[in-house]
Amino acid sequence: MEIIDAHVHFDDPRFDGRRRGLWEEARNVGVRAMVVPGVATPDWPRTRTVCALFPSCHPCYGIHPWHVRQHAERELALLEEWVARERPVAVGECGLDRLRPAFERQVELFRAQIALARAHALPLVIHAVRALDEVIAELRRGGHHEGMVHAFAGSREQARRLLDLGFALSFGGAVTRERNTRVRGVAAWAPDDAILVETDAPDLPPEGRRGELNRPAWITGVLATLALLRDGTVEALAHRTAGNARRLFRLDARDHSSRGSSL
Ligand SMILES: [Zn+2]
Repeated sequence: MEIIDAHVHFDDPRFDGRRRGLWEEARNVGVRAMVVPGVATPDWPRTRTVCALFPSCHPCYGIHPWHVRQHAERELALLEEWVARERPVAVGECGLDRLRPAFERQVELFRAQIALARAHALPLVIHAVRALDEVIAELRRGGHHEGMVHAFAGSREQARRLLDLGFALSFGGAVTRERNTRVRGVAAWAPDDAILVETDAPDLPPEGRRGELNRPAWITGVLATLALLRDGTVEALAHRTAGNARRLFRLDARDHSSRGSSL
């Protein structure tokens, strides 16, 4: 079985000292690649280091809406340098979060990152909390049509608009909770070629593991729920979502070039 975790903070310091074991545990359940999003300028070197240590961990770099700071111009210039030099699989994690301060600054930063992704022809990795309509408006305005919304939690109508704009929907721990009927409904309905699976570990543990540190191997819980909701098999869903992730983040080209350079 091939599973790709489309969004996991594997570089998070909460994993320090246990990363090797967690990586092996994930390999053992079938995880073959991970996309690891950088969230703040001081943390990007750590994201890069962790991804260099573990095969098929692919970094992307962005400024998360939780990390909006005063001197954003300098940070954006730095991001441009990193994207040009490091050639990540995407720009992000970026986006909008209504539960966090400085929403206007968040919008400015998100706009700049959409433009950057577009200029480098890279997909966007998007965080949207209580701000999906605003995210959709910015994506439309920015004219960039490639990327994914991680931990999708919106309505079917919002999902429809994102799909029309060319974006994929990534589902994680939230779908494992029975009371989340809305997101489970979207997860059951979304087209096969537009869905991804993720853990967002160490956050958002699946049902039955709440209060614990989420871990990459628990992607199997997300897959099991999603397969049930979509009336399919775990194997077929893993295969399908892995194919979608490979296509979106162009992972095949990455694996070939890294294999080539290590020879
Ligand atoms: Zn994240």
